Amino acid sequence: MTEPLPFRVGDTTGRGLGVYATRAIALGELIISEDPIVASLLNAESEELAISLLSEEDKAVFFSFVDQHHPGNPTIEGIFKSNAVPTNRPGTGGMYANICRTNHSCTPNAAYSPSDTSDRENIYAYTDIAEGAEILTSYIPLWRSREHRQEHLSTGFKFTCACTACAGPPNPVSDALREEVHRLGQAMKESGMINTAETLRSLNARLRLVEEEGTHDLGIRCEDRLYASQIAASCSDYETSRRHAGQAYALSLLGRGRECADTVYLLRLHRYPRAHDSAGMDEEPLPALCDGCGKEEMGGFKGKAAKGGGCGSCNCALYCSRSCKLAHAALHKPICEVIQRSKSEVVSEADAFRDKYRDGKAQDECAIQ
Ligand SMILES: [Zn+2]
Ligand SMILES: [Zn+2]
Ligand SMILES: [Zn+2]
Repeated sequence: MTEPLPFRVGDTTGRGLGVYATRAIALGELIISEDPIVASLLNAESEELAISLLSEEDKAVFFSFVDQHHPGNPTIEGIFKSNAVPTNRPGTGGMYANICRTNHSCTPNAAYSPSDTSDRENIYAYTDIAEGAEILTSYIPLWRSREHRQEHLSTGFKFTCACTACAGPPNPVSDALREEVHRLGQAMKESGMINTAETLRSLNARLRLVEEEGTHDLGIRCEDRLYASQIAASCSDYETSRRHAGQAYALSLLGRGRECADTVYLLRLHRYPRAHDSAGMDEEPLPALCDGCGKEEMGGFKGKAAKGGGCGSCNCALYCSRSCKLAHAALHKPICEVIQRSKSEVVSEADAFRDKYRDGKAQDECAIQ
């Protein structure tokens, strides 16, 4: 017997159709995985051609979607523009029977993850989702102010967002926080990530803000930990690099699944941080950073604070105090469980990669002698 699907498509109040959980869904679960009815380069000619080649049944599904740009007089281009989801091929959008029914939220509980090798698209749960709750994804970058997000949604998708982050009186705290996350990301990219300790501080500050806003954005948290792992490896601090890569791996597994090439790559880095391209470029000492409050200290946490220690279960989180460890427990738990499970898993690809490097290193040592 096949498992019943964890979702159904149903009516919303005032927002057309939506997708709902038919049972409780856990953070990191694959909710929907489907091939497109049609995938096409996002331009008018290519879309017309792609639709003309569809079966009558698929055409009917395609034309059941709303054209937000020309509500009374739907066009193929308008339907694509209003509903298509980017696939793994740059500049290509896919129309998916169920995935394209998910509505937008600026505090989504799920996210798209395109397959690495085909036009298949997946949706993973970014939080625990209760039975009956609507499954919501984001159509736009989340880390901008409400005004900026509304403008993007109104131009691109022709609707006004009334999600939990957009409803109610203006929220200058949330706006400032989201804009700061955006600014820190831009500044890091522009700096070329050269100034290591400073970039690490920016990453640390950004992660604290992301966690504070409570959007459960696994994508940005994963990116953050990968960069931190890279920086630590470039400063020859492989223990710190290993810890961060472990967290990045867990976040990638939860948000994009086991099949994703990046997930396997991050497990390799967790098992062998010297495999970073930038490994060992420098010897710059980096401060220890608390995973809970972000406090930093050169040479590790000392004295009373050191009693917080790290997470002994996964050995990938570090805390300045016991209270930080407790306060961070809920956010850390799902990550911790994934890392613990990864220890007993035989991931031949990751191990083979480590062995190859070990062999390489052994040869280097022979050559030096
Ligand atoms: Zn919103
Ligand atoms: Zn702390
Ligand atoms: Zn842990």
